[in-house]
Amino acid sequence: MSIGKIGVVGAGTMGNGIAQAFAAAGLNVVMMDIGEPQVQRGLSTISASLDRLIKKEKMSADEKAAVMARISTATVVSALADCGLVIEAATENLDLKLKIFADLDAAMKQDAILATNTSSISVTRLAAATGRADRVIGMHFFNPVPMMALVELIRGLQTSAETHARVEAVARQIGKTPVQVKNSPGFVVNRMLCPMINEAIFTLGEGLATAGEIDEAMKLGCNHPIGPLALCDLIGLDVQLAVMQVLFEGFKDPKYRPAPLLVEMVEAGYLGRKSGKGFFDYK
Ligand code: NAD
Repeated sequence: MSIGKIGVVGAGTMGNGIAQAFAAAGLNVVMMDIGEPQVQRGLSTISASLDRLIKKEKMSADEKAAVMARISTATVVSALADCGLVIEAATENLDLKLKIFADLDAAMKQDAILATNTSSISVTRLAAATGRADRVIGMHFFNPVPMMALVELIRGLQTSAETHARVEAVARQIGKTPVQVKNSPGFVVNRMLCPMINEAIFTLGEGLATAGEIDEAMKLGCNHPIGPLALCDLIGLDVQLAVMQVLFEGFKDPKYRPAPLLVEMVEAGYLGRKSGKGFFDYK
């Protein structure tokens, strides 16, 4: 059974990438955000991303027009009433997401599935805020969504096998590779990736090597395409710190304590690429 129309809540970094990925695979998408400037910014980002594909001769101008035509926009939740699957990709804030989930639950069709792209909030907790907990699931995409193959499918305690199977089929339909993960702090990828980056920051803080040498060592010694400190600059030091805090608080295990240098750099406003300075300079 086809899932029907896709709703995406949030037209930011992840939301517009998710909308693009579904529309490029031939599905109709409604991309919703709090206002017209936000949805227009999301549409411009998608347009620019498709233009890059045209430049690389991976897409024609006609194909781009068809993808754009499959994306409509909205600024109210009620516009998602006829979607078979809604993916929430709004700002990472528990109270905000609880409110969005309650509003979506009231607006959506009874049999529709509600997914969240949250990086750190418990899917079980969000599901409990709805009257359809068995039809709530985590769909954790990776940035940039159109390029990255993985989607972690997070099963909350209440998520039904049918919900998981339907979302897994949709993920494959849009060319992604899903892995099934239980609801747990950091899921699988961030649970391993962020402690590795954290350890790199400890080694820097302890003066074992310079930032350049630490990254060079991991690139040449482990075949990583990018060093852990440059990756942290890309992710954002504030985001890295937030994930470590979620792991630390979630497991109450000191092995997840954020590196003191990371805390101090965030205090200084050195957030990585987005602030022009992190472990490396971008000015
Ligand atoms: P972002 O700040 O780029 O975009 C968030 C968007 O949500 C904004 O456009 C904002 O206007 C919108 N929004 C806020 N309140 C809303 C509401 N009530 N209704 C509709 N839209 C609303 O953030 P992002 O990086 O795209 O992150 C979105 C989600 O994806 C978060 O849960 C985040 O944890 C998760 N995530 C992010 C990444 C990443 O690399 N950035 C990766 C995986 C998952």
